Amino acid sequence: MYQDTIAAVSTPIGEGGIGIVRLSGGDALPIARRLLPAELEDRRLVHGRVIDPESGEVVDEVLVAYMRAPHSYTREDVVEINCHGGPMPLQRILGLALRHGARLANPGEFTLRAFLNGRVDLAQAESVLDVIQAKTQASLRLAVDGLGGRLSKQVRGVRESLMDVLAYLTARIDFPEDEVEEQEVGGPLEGARSTLRELIASADAGIVYRQGVRTAIVGRPNVGKSSLLNRLLGESRAIVTAIPGTTRDTLEEVVNLKGVPFLLVDTAGIMDGADEVEALAVARSRRAIEQADFVLFVVDASEPLADSDRQIIGLLKGKEVLVAANKCDLPPRAGMGELPWLRVATSALTGEGLAELENGMVDAVLGGRVVTSDAALVTNPRHKEALVRAEGHVVQAEKTIANCLPEDFATIDLTAALNALGEITGETVTEDLLEAIFSRFCIGK
Ligand code: GDP
Repeated sequence: MYQDTIAAVSTPIGEGGIGIVRLSGGDALPIARRLLPAELEDRRLVHGRVIDPESGEVVDEVLVAYMRAPHSYTREDVVEINCHGGPMPLQRILGLALRHGARLANPGEFTLRAFLNGRVDLAQAESVLDVIQAKTQASLRLAVDGLGGRLSKQVRGVRESLMDVLAYLTARIDFPEDEVEEQEVGGPLEGARSTLRELIASADAGIVYRQGVRTAIVGRPNVGKSSLLNRLLGESRAIVTAIPGTTRDTLEEVVNLKGVPFLLVDTAGIMDGADEVEALAVARSRRAIEQADFVLFVVDASEPLADSDRQIIGLLKGKEVLVAANKCDLPPRAGMGELPWLRVATSALTGEGLAELENGMVDAVLGGRVVTSDAALVTNPRHKEALVRAEGHVVQAEKTIANCLPEDFATIDLTAALNALGEITGETVTEDLLEAIFSRFCIGK
């Protein structure tokens, strides 16, 4: 349990009408009382003024909520001071809290305390960040599920049945056979394995919903990349022009297609020869392709494929690619036979084929696995990795038992599986892992 009291600004500074300075820890209330002459009551919003105790100056008019431990976000005493959202009031109030006994919170420290004090498990704590960063409704729903402990519940169920088998096998090793009542282990292990398999199978789609798909839109200049991007965005944000190569600067937008966040990177077209800036644009396109999980390759269907199209084809090897054969409103002249990928005919001008393009993009990245309401989805690569390890150990334990090998081997594997699962919910977790997880939060969360 922590002794010190932490404080931070928990809202974006200077971006709203109100801002919140949050304090958590044993001294949260005495510190708040020093700054606010008002009487604070548990779970009541109190109106008052923050006064600098040294100068007597009124800093801001505020609303203050005090939440007594353990009924708070961190399970410690928490005080939230709702002041005006400008940088000055927020920083002055935070400064006063720090001067009167609080210390500046580390990134994610409020949520870390919620975890260490047992209010949420690790997977739930991680979901806090996912809720904050959710890019679409579907991502938000999954994150809120995680916050509510949906994955944790399933993982805990698997842990319990593995623990049960482990206890039985350990007893058989430690005690004479006739003293331990016979217990079936095959069924529980198989059940655990199948739940783990289902969770692992859900992860690819889940991770796509949570993280989004880094998507490069490539094609030579003038094929209609910016126009298609704008169609996808549903509003004009990229520069559309008939002059080749005007979209030199890389531009990133999030497009929500059926709940899947596509992080689009519109790049300059790839051209032969060309001046220095154009060369820079080529380099950028290459980089975008390298970084992308998915490539939308735009060609102009009204013209024969050009050398620069072929140059791009050369860069796309090994990538997940969907081709937009654009300008399908014009007479077709491109020979598409050279393109080994799935193709959708589109017109950014008329909107034809846009719905098919969206479907094609979603199918390409999800492989048909659209989020359904009752499935617990694994959305975090860290969780997937731990599940895969756990499953490997369960399979190994099953083999040991099936082949009547010494039961010690099975207990070693079951222990390893339990540890791997414990890393998800936080029962078995190292300082380093906690540090790695919570350092990704911002201060005040
Ligand atoms: P980019 O250089 O690949 O980004 O291409 P732009 O989006 O800037 O488009 C180049 C030109 O082609 C513009 O004049 C667009 O209006 C036009 N264009 C884009 N898509 C289509 C299409 O589907 N049909 C027709 N006819 N013209 C298009």
